[in-house]
Formats: sequence, structure tokens, C-alpha cells
Amino acid sequence: MVARIIPVEPFDLVIFGGTGDLARRKILPGLYRRLADGQMPPEARIIGAARSDLDDDGFRELVREALYEYQREEDLDSEQVETFLGLLFYVTVDAKGDAGWEDLKKLMNPDRVHAFYFSVAPSLFGPIAERLKDRGIADDEARIVVEKPFGHDLESAKALNASLAQHFNEKQIYRIDHYLGKETVQNLMAVRFGNMLFEPLWNSQYVDHIQITVAETVGVGGRGEYYDRSGAMRDMVQNHLLQLLCLIAMEPPSRYDPDAVRDEKLKVIRALDTVRPDDLVRGQYLAGPSGPSYLEDVGNPNSLTECFIAMRLAVSNWRWAGTPFYLRTGKRLKARTSEIAIVFKDAPHSIFDVPQGRHSNVLSIRLQPNEGMEMSVTIKEPGPGGMRLIDVPLDMSFAEALGEQASDIPDAYERLIMDVIRGNQTLFMRGDEVEAAWAWTDPVIADWESRGHVPSPYDQGSSGPDDALMLLHRDGRRWRDIRQ
Ligand code: NAP
Repeated sequence: MVARIIPVEPFDLVIFGGTGDLARRKILPGLYRRLADGQMPPEARIIGAARSDLDDDGFRELVREALYEYQREEDLDSEQVETFLGLLFYVTVDAKGDAGWEDLKKLMNPDRVHAFYFSVAPSLFGPIAERLKDRGIADDEARIVVEKPFGHDLESAKALNASLAQHFNEKQIYRIDHYLGKETVQNLMAVRFGNMLFEPLWNSQYVDHIQITVAETVGVGGRGEYYDRSGAMRDMVQNHLLQLLCLIAMEPPSRYDPDAVRDEKLKVIRALDTVRPDDLVRGQYLAGPSGPSYLEDVGNPNSLTECFIAMRLAVSNWRWAGTPFYLRTGKRLKARTSEIAIVFKDAPHSIFDVPQGRHSNVLSIRLQPNEGMEMSVTIKEPGPGGMRLIDVPLDMSFAEALGEQASDIPDAYERLIMDVIRGNQTLFMRGDEVEAAWAWTDPVIADWESRGHVPSPYDQGSSGPDDALMLLHRDGRRWRDIRQ
């Protein structure tokens, strides 16, 4: 079975920061794959824009190198690579200057979808938006794509929203959270709202608790200075983990359309209680076999920034009152994995001789690696040994169930860029959502800062600080193992 490709309309996509790391690692290889899969029309054009003094051929060489470095070898076909490179153009432009903008205007083809990807520092969003509009390069139909981080706190997020809103309306703005572009994340909505099986159980009456884990094995080395100003709460929780939480906790939207879905997500963020100090654990990794300590990595022995965070959250509404959401994310942990686990309650009365608190029914949704879902159920252990119960997984690994079709699953960036061209904002964050997320985040950070809270140390390759384990132990629960 081969995935059904729906080609998009011809487009001109300008990538500001086309020479940067994100463009070379993710955006351009992703676009190549869309061309190779037949989704990108051959008339499409991709225009790199940055200050570096390059011509079209220089940019093509840079992209060729990026493709050979970051693309899986089996996806590279020399003929298709040449076709792709032929769609590339380049303009030298300074986001804050005057030169180059006329050249860009001349390059743009009228009568096409126009999209502008801001793969640059957020401080350049406003200046680029202003020039695109004032110089008549972007019209009222054009789309702009902005990268994270979208603000550092509520005030800066509001300022960014306001600077974009001066030139573009909300329907034109695509705020990327690449977690939302993952196949399994969309499958979460399909499973919840496309089946009768789960939705009746999807509430505090049947769900004991929910765990969301995003664990990384890498440290912060390389971008330590940036990271130390941000921390796990701002870098991961405010955006990715909260977005996942929203998709699990939201009410069924009336339609699968951008505003219906985003209205429901917004209600979840607004229903989040603030986190009590007792319900929050912050940590920093120690030096270990994989490298120096967090403090050494960021070059700041006095840093109080967390690179691990775990918390217990309450969504105060009718559906979820009484069901805690446990979130954790961190660096230099045991394995690289992202998982959501819906842990169902025990049967109210066991007729078998087994203790309560086994929580045998767990729906786990793996975002990486090996995207897929697994449902554990209790069955009788086979054999003549009497009525002994075991928990077994009903596994739905995409790779196994869908075969070849699974290997064609587009990477999150590819999918999201195609959604921009189609004009579908469902998987992008709306301005009010981002602000609501910061409005929840800011007081939590302000609280630990006012208390001068010191993050707990943890060993590299562990599951985080011991206090994080206690967060669940004291509730009579335990974290799922962090495993690849
Ligand atoms: P980067 O490697 O530093 O690239 C920055 C790009 O911006 C370069 O192409 C640079 O080219 C261009 N640029 C800088 N100043 C400019 C100016 N005044 N006018 C025009 N172009 C200018 O950064 P990056 O890692 O690609 O990140 C880009 C954005 O994506 C950032 O907001 C980052 O937070 C976000 N992001 C990155 C990643 C990632 O994995 N890299 C992941 C998530 C989000 P010139 O120097 O030639 O001008």
C-alpha cells in the first residue's frame, strides 16, 4: 500500500535564514522529500534569503551539501536532487537593512501561493514583516511561518504578536510547534475522535492519571549560553508538552478545522491550575560518562536554570477534575524517547487474586523513536497453571502495521510546510494560545525565582532527580520506564 500524495498548488517559498542550521538540517531536506514524493509541483520555487554573499549557484551548492549530509542515503536520487536544486534561488538581504528587497520582489512570481518562512532569530521577525508589507512583497493572501521560541515570557510574546499583527492578520500567521506535525500526534486525534471505543472512557471516572515524558540523551553543549537563559520550562514545557497535554485533554471540537480545534486547546490551557511548589521538581545533570555537568556545559557555576523538570498538573474542569497529569522532560537521561501514557483505573472489584493498583490498561502513544501506539490489557497466562494474569501489549507500531506506507510518513517539518501551502492552520499555534501558555508559565517561574529555588542534581543516564520519582510515589503511582 503506498501513501496517497495530494499535490499542493504551485508556490514561491522564501526562507529567511536559508543558509542557517534549521534550514539546512530540516526545512530544505524536508522540501526535497516532498518533491521526490510528488507532492511538490515542479513549478514550485524556493528562495533562500540571508546576508551571506551568495548567488543562485552558491546557494544550490550549499543545499546540495546539506542534502548529502542530512538526508537518508536511500532517499537521495541524483536526478531528483538536480531537479530540486533547479528550483532554488537566492537573494542577499539584510532583515534590518534596505538592500536586496527589490531583488526579492522581482523574483516573486504573481498568481501563486506566497509563503515566507522566518527561520531567523525572533528579533528579526518584526523587521522582516515590516519590509515584506511596506515594499509590497507580501499581499493579504501571503503566509508567514515563524519558528520557536515565540517569546521568552508573556510580555515578549505579546510584543511579538503585536509586531506581526501590524502587517499580517492572524489567518496569515503560522506559528510552528513541530511536535504538532508528528504523525502520532495527529493519530491521537484520530483515535480519540474517530472511534467510539475510547471517548466514553476519556475522563476522570476511568483515567487514573496521564504521563507525558520527553526525554533526551543529549546535553546542552553547543547551545549552552542560549539554553541557560531559557531552561526546560520555557524551552519544552511552555510549548511542546503543553500542546500535547491540550490534545489529550481537550473536548471534541465540533469540526476538524483550525479554529474549532484551537478554541478547544485554548480552553484546556485556561483550565490549568498553577503548579504548587510541592508538585514541581527541577534538576541539573552532574558530570558523567557522557560529558561534563550542566553547570560546566553552560559555563556558569552559579546557574539556577533547570535542564530537567517534572510536575504534577491539574486541569480544573468537569472532565479531568481529580485526574493528575504528570509531565517530565530533561536532558542526559536514560534514553531518547517521547511518550504519552493514558493510565486507566483498575477494575472496581477484582474477582481474581491480584492486588489493586496494577493499572493494567495503559494506552501509550510513542512520538519517538518508532512512532506508534500500544494498549496493554490483562489476559490469562497461557497454560495449565490456574488463573494467573499477565499484562500483554496490543501493539500498533506503524512500521509493522502499515509496512511500506509507514516508511513514507513525512517528517513533521515536511507536513507542516505543506499545510502552510494548503492554507491549513490546524496544526499551528494561534496567538491567543501562545499567550495563554505564557500566562500560565510566567507565575510558576516567578514563584521559584522568588524562592531562589536550587535545582536538584541528577546522574547522567538516569531518570532524573530522586525527588521526581517521589512526585509519583507519594501518590501511590510510578513513572513509566524511560526506554528507547
Ligand atoms: P542559525 O544557524 O544561526 O541561522 C540563522 C540564519 O539567519 C542564517 O541563515 C543567517 O544567515 C540568517 N540571518 C542572521 N541575521 C540576519 C539578518 N540580519 N538578515 C537576514 N538574515 C539573517 O540559526 P538556526 O539554528 O537556523 O535557527 C533559526 C531560527 O529557528 C531561530 O529562531 C531558532 O531559535 C529557531 N529554531 C532552530 C532550531 C534548530 O534546530 N536549529 C530548532 C527550533 C527552532 P546570514 O548570517 O548569512 O545572514
